[in-house]
Amino acid sequence: MSGLPSVSREWHLVARPAGWPEKEQFALREAPVSPPGEGRVLVRNLHFSVDPYMRGRMNELNPYMPPFELNRPMDGGAVGEVIASAAEGFSVGDHVLHGLGWREFAEVGAEDAVKVDDSLAPLSAYLGVLGMPGLTAYVGLFDTASFKEGDAVFVSGAAGAVGSQVGQMARIKGASRVIGSAGSDEKVRLLVEEYGFSAAFNYKNGSIAEQLKQAAPDGIDVYFDNVGGDHLEAAISSLRLHGRVTLCGAIGGYNDTEPSPGPRNLPLAAGKRIRLQGMLVTDHPDRQPQFVEDVAGWIASGELKYHETVVKGIERAPDAFLGLLRGENIGKMIVSLPS
Ligand code: NDP
Repeated sequence: MSGLPSVSREWHLVARPAGWPEKEQFALREAPVSPPGEGRVLVRNLHFSVDPYMRGRMNELNPYMPPFELNRPMDGGAVGEVIASAAEGFSVGDHVLHGLGWREFAEVGAEDAVKVDDSLAPLSAYLGVLGMPGLTAYVGLFDTASFKEGDAVFVSGAAGAVGSQVGQMARIKGASRVIGSAGSDEKVRLLVEEYGFSAAFNYKNGSIAEQLKQAAPDGIDVYFDNVGGDHLEAAISSLRLHGRVTLCGAIGGYNDTEPSPGPRNLPLAAGKRIRLQGMLVTDHPDRQPQFVEDVAGWIASGELKYHETVVKGIERAPDAFLGLLRGENIGKMIVSLPS
C-alpha cells in the first residue's frame, strides 16, 4: 500500500450559524491518512454533495439527523475511487458511493460503501438524478402524493435537483398539467423549454398565489412542496377537492431565526379534504431498484433531462453550499475534486 497520500483536507464546522451561514463558520483542516483497517476501503473522493438538509445539521438540535459536531469533519453523500482495500469484494479502482463527503480522502467501512457503475451514468449522477434527490422526487410524487394519470401537478424549487425530476416524472407519467416555480427567469425558461413543463413562473416576480392561479386556472391536484411558506399557502388555495400535498422540504425558512407562521388558509384543507403528508427519503430504500430502473430508462430514452452545477475544488465547498441556499444552482449542486 505504498504511494498512499499521507494527508487529507476536510471541512469542519467551527461555529453554529444563527440565520444565514457565513464562511468563517467553516474551516478546512488537515488530517493524517492511514491505510484502511480490516473490512474497510480508502477512497479518493471525486465528487461530493452539498444539500439543503445540511443546513439543519448545522443547528444544535435537528429533528431527524444528528447535528454536525463542531471541530469534527462534516459528512454527506460522496462518490470516489477506491485507492486501497482491506475489504472483501472491493478492489483498487472500484467506484463507490458513500457518506463521507466534505473531505479529499475517506476511510469507509465496506458495509457503508455501494459500488456504482460509471458506464451507466457519470459518477456525479449518483449524487443527484440517480441518487438521493432523485429517489426523493420518485417516492414523494408516486407514493406520498399518490400521483395518478391526469393529475395537475405543481412543484416549487422546480429547477433544483428534486423539483426538476418531480415535474418531469409527472409529465412522463401523464399529468394533465405540470407547473413549476423557480427563482429566476432563466430557470423558468429551462422548465418550459427543456423539461417540458406546461407553465412556470418566477416567484420573485409577484404574488405566488396570483401567478399560480394564472398558470393553473382550473386548479391543481398535487402540490410537491420544497419551499413552504407562501408557496404552501398559494397551493392550498389552488388545490381541488381531494388534493394531495407532499411536504418534502421548506427551504424558504431554513435560515429563519424564528419559526415561520403556518399557512393562514389551512382551514380550507378540511372542506377540500386535502391530504398533507411529510416524507423522508431515508424511509424508502425498498424503492431504490425500481427507481433506478425507471429513471435510467427515461434518461436513456431522452424523456428525462438533468443539469448539474459543478463547483471545482475542495476549497470552494462552503461557497457551493451557500450558493445552493441562494439559488445559484441549476439542478444538483456538486463539488468536484481533481482525480
Ligand atoms: P435544490 O437543488 O432545489 O436547491 C435548493 C433551491 O432552493 C435553490 O436552488 C433555490 O432555487 C431554492 N430556494 C432557496 N431559497 C428559497 C426561497 N426562500 N424560496 C424558494 N426557493 C428557494 O435542492 P434539493 O433539490 O436538494 O432540495 C429541494 C428540497 O427538498 C429542499 O427543501 C430539501 O430540504 C428537500 N429534500 C427533502 C428530502 C426528504 O427526504 N424529505 C430529501 C432531499 C431534499 P430558486 O432559484 O428557485 O430560489
